[in-house]
Amino acid sequence: LSDRLTETFRNLRTKGKLTPADVDGTVREIRRALLDADVALPVVKEFTAKVRERALGDEVNKALNPAQQVVQIVNEELIAILGGQQRRLQFAKNPPTIIMLAGLQGSGKTTFAGKLAKMLEKEGHTPLLVAADLQRPNAVNQLQVVAGQAGAAIYAPQPGNGVGDPVQVARDGVEVARRHQHDVVIIDTAGRLGVDAELMKQAADIRRATDPDEVLFVIDAMIGQDAVNTAKAFQEGVDFTGVVLSKLDGDARGGAALSVASVTGRPIIYASTGEGLDDLEPFHPDRMASRILDLGDILTLIEQAQQAFDEAEAMKMAEKLATDSFTLEDFLDQMQQLKKMGSMKKMLGMLPGMGQMKQQLEDFDERELDRTEAIIRSMTPIERRNPKVLNGSRRLRIARGSGMTVTDVNALVNRFEQAAKMMKTVARGGTPNIPGMGPI
Ligand code: GDP
Ligand code: MG
Repeated sequence: LSDRLTETFRNLRTKGKLTPADVDGTVREIRRALLDADVALPVVKEFTAKVRERALGDEVNKALNPAQQVVQIVNEELIAILGGQQRRLQFAKNPPTIIMLAGLQGSGKTTFAGKLAKMLEKEGHTPLLVAADLQRPNAVNQLQVVAGQAGAAIYAPQPGNGVGDPVQVARDGVEVARRHQHDVVIIDTAGRLGVDAELMKQAADIRRATDPDEVLFVIDAMIGQDAVNTAKAFQEGVDFTGVVLSKLDGDARGGAALSVASVTGRPIIYASTGEGLDDLEPFHPDRMASRILDLGDILTLIEQAQQAFDEAEAMKMAEKLATDSFTLEDFLDQMQQLKKMGSMKKMLGMLPGMGQMKQQLEDFDERELDRTEAIIRSMTPIERRNPKVLNGSRRLRIARGSGMTVTDVNALVNRFEQAAKMMKTVARGGTPNIPGMGPI
């Protein structure tokens, strides 16, 4: 998706006033790009119609930079479809908050149950996992393993009683949570490989029996065109209050996110981005829109950067990215390279006017570099190479050593993580050969 759009916007960017033909050409490209990304046809049609209408309207005509305005419109419309604001989990006024999971087999429900439990525990909640998937022989066991890894409590039916009743298990689970004062209950349910009437009935029965505060529909981001029918079937069969998009770490290009959000009108609440229990993030519509749009900006930046980069450095960096061993030391190097390039503002002029990267650059300040350096210098080599070890006491020590506050240290680690993630996205996106950097 990104490469295609990038090209389109790049062409547009060189133009001054836009003719209706320019707009139509761009809209056609956007349409193709979205279809390529497996966004469902009705969604694509609606989206492009809206963009076209706005692009031909006054706001673009009167804009100082019409091309930039079109990009802005595409970004806004993407964010709108993706739900606008980030939506948080709704907690019940009177605990326990009951969260039921639904979705096809293999969509990532059980994994997500563990991730969510872990995340909630970190926030001070006391979740109870409930194993109401009695379909597959191993399902209860799988949840037990996940619960163990997450350090979360679990309610599971006793083994050896034959096939139990998942509705009863769910009901009992909620009761157990009440008795033992768990403030959140996460009910894992069965899925089938395809949409199935019996499965829907079971899920609907569990919903009726437990009256959950949230029903989260878990969908594999790689599902492609089936996203729409699957989401619709679950909306009709069980209905849900929110969506979890799983396997976003794969090469899914965000198409499913657009389709599901658009067709069901339900917010995407979480993005699941790996097999590990820590690979869970709140879903940010604006970031997803950026992910769809911004890759091009990053590429442009890299292209500019490589003129200033010393070739050997660039090669080294490319290797680092490829092997996924981007460290805080590299981060520091990179910031120093950026400084070499001098005028950041000039580079900002090339960006279509949005996105995280731009924000980061706008926030970029040379003194910041010195502070960053001070903090990184106060880290041990192990900490620099593996920032995951940076727990509270280490951060405190580093803050003291560098004369900064823990908040400064946290901010730096966050920025590093964002940069590392962005690097990974670029690396994964199969970027074209960038002269001087070699294939990433
Ligand atoms: P369920 O049948 O819906 O409960 O799905 P599972 O939670 O058992 O997940 C099915 C498979 O997908 C497992 O192998 C998981 O490890 C894997 N999986 C789940 N979520 C993710 C994710 O976000 N990223 C990746 N790469 N794999 C995932
Ligand atoms: Mg499961």
